[in-house]
Amino acid sequence: MPNSPQLSRWKSPFIPVHLCFLAVFLFSAFLTVHEAFELKNNYEQRQRAQLSDVQKNLDSQFQESLDELLYYQQMLNYALTHPLDSDHARETVARFQQLRQQNPWQLQLSSPRSMPINGVGDSWLTRDPLLSRDDTHIDHELRAALEFSFILQFGDTKQDFHSRFWYISRAGFYISSRPPQNAQELEESYATMIQRPYFRDQDPHNPLHARLRWTEGYQGLFDEGLMMTVSTPIISEGYWYGVLSMDFTQSRIHALLASARNSSLQGKMVLLDRSLHEITRLTAPNDQPLTAEQKALLEQQILQSPAGVSRLGTQFITWSKLRNVDAYIVNVQSLKQGFSQELGRVALFMVGMWLVFVLLLVAAHQVIFRLVRRLNDMSAKLVWRANYDGLTRLLNRSDFFEQFDALAARGQQQQTPLAVIQLDIDHFKKVNDTWGHQAGDQAIIRVASVISHTLRKYDVAGRVGGEEFCIVLPETTLAEAQAVAERIRVRLEAKTILVNASTTFGITLSAGVSGSEEQGDYEAESLQASADSRLYLAKTGGRNRVCAAN
Ligand code: GH3
Ligand code: MG
Ligand code: MG
Repeated sequence: MPNSPQLSRWKSPFIPVHLCFLAVFLFSAFLTVHEAFELKNNYEQRQRAQLSDVQKNLDSQFQESLDELLYYQQMLNYALTHPLDSDHARETVARFQQLRQQNPWQLQLSSPRSMPINGVGDSWLTRDPLLSRDDTHIDHELRAALEFSFILQFGDTKQDFHSRFWYISRAGFYISSRPPQNAQELEESYATMIQRPYFRDQDPHNPLHARLRWTEGYQGLFDEGLMMTVSTPIISEGYWYGVLSMDFTQSRIHALLASARNSSLQGKMVLLDRSLHEITRLTAPNDQPLTAEQKALLEQQILQSPAGVSRLGTQFITWSKLRNVDAYIVNVQSLKQGFSQELGRVALFMVGMWLVFVLLLVAAHQVIFRLVRRLNDMSAKLVWRANYDGLTRLLNRSDFFEQFDALAARGQQQQTPLAVIQLDIDHFKKVNDTWGHQAGDQAIIRVASVISHTLRKYDVAGRVGGEEFCIVLPETTLAEAQAVAERIRVRLEAKTILVNASTTFGITLSAGVSGSEEQGDYEAESLQASADSRLYLAKTGGRNRVCAAN
């Protein structure tokens, strides 16, 4: 099919089809992504809410112990300002005065009814400037300690959530819910305790001191593993006596965490101290400690918000600060675990539906695209048929004259020469009669082929009658056109047309040529009429010739 500017216009119907489908695809993708974000937000909110439940659960457990600690603090404060005045108290102070030089010493008061007071000798206290056995305070403090030791015995270490509860005095003694087993342990324990942050940080001169101060996780003295301790200072009338402390071991915190865990909160659950050291972790399949990357993210995020959710690769990290403990509870859930939950299943279903939709969309696009292509091909064919001659594939009469008029108008405007060649096959009736109509058609095709191959790109040829052809040659003089016509004539004369395997025949044509330069006439009709009359001259002059003059 020859290239025609009209045909290229027919490619455009595909663009609206593509655009429509693209718009539907983009819109559905936008809706899906939008929904996915909604689901993600929903999921994160749910994670936060579930972790917040765990946090509240933990906090309420710690609250009981902290309430107890603060109750004892009040009791000690009261006892320090209103010292117990009994025979027993006086006896205790007197016995202390006898023992105070010994190292170590233990005051077992009224035997099974109380916890012992465990102390070190006067000289021991010179080791540390924080220690002081001040005579003006020791009397009241011993009486208060006596009351504390009475009450402490009612505690049941098996029932308590905390594993140890004790008062440690700056005056070189302590009372503990777990009394020392021997003299060596007594001294060692005191020496260790006064070095610990739960004691030293509570010095009122230390900026870290607080009503309730938590330590970071540390290794306990008695094979108890990791633990955290909370302490409160005992200060009465401006004098710092010592601290009340409670230990929470890793195993107890772990048990608490396990019972506080919300069953729908899957993944890794970790309790971290304020420096993000792991205290304990709930074991789950393939459980791993937090990675350095996850810790770095937490460090950065926790500074900004005490509770939140953040995504790291395929992991969702949810954290919440405990209210009653200087610690964080962190949950790490993988995308896979997330998808196994209800919201995850909804997300998977949604993505699945969208994929099905996209597949259907692609199928519909293909169907419509093919339909449009067929329509386009058909309409191109119709247009071609309206403009071209089916036998020779040259322009048909009406379209040829349309283009002839356009070329003539342009030639006139630009004042360039324009030539016309009119051709007619010689004795064609005879060809038909001798070799049949089909052979006649072959002859017509052959002439058209010779014409097409001889012309330049911008020359226009048309089949204007049964075996008549006309050619317009823009920017061509009469002499040049005559040469072209001559070339066509010679080439055709040299060809033979096959009728069957053993029979061939030849044909010739006659041509008349006219040019605009002859009379400055660009009128298509008169130029063709002039060429036609010269064709007649060629015929009457003997045929198989070109005539370019009257
Ligand atoms: P001349 O040399 O004077 O041109 O003699 P001629 O026999 O060629 O006479 P004319 O040009 O009038 O011939 C026209 C004939 O061409 C009439 C018709 O039988 C034949 N013809 C017209 N169109 C077709 C066609 O499409 N196929 C075939 N096979 N023959 C056609
Ligand atoms: Mg004719
Ligand atoms: Mg003829």
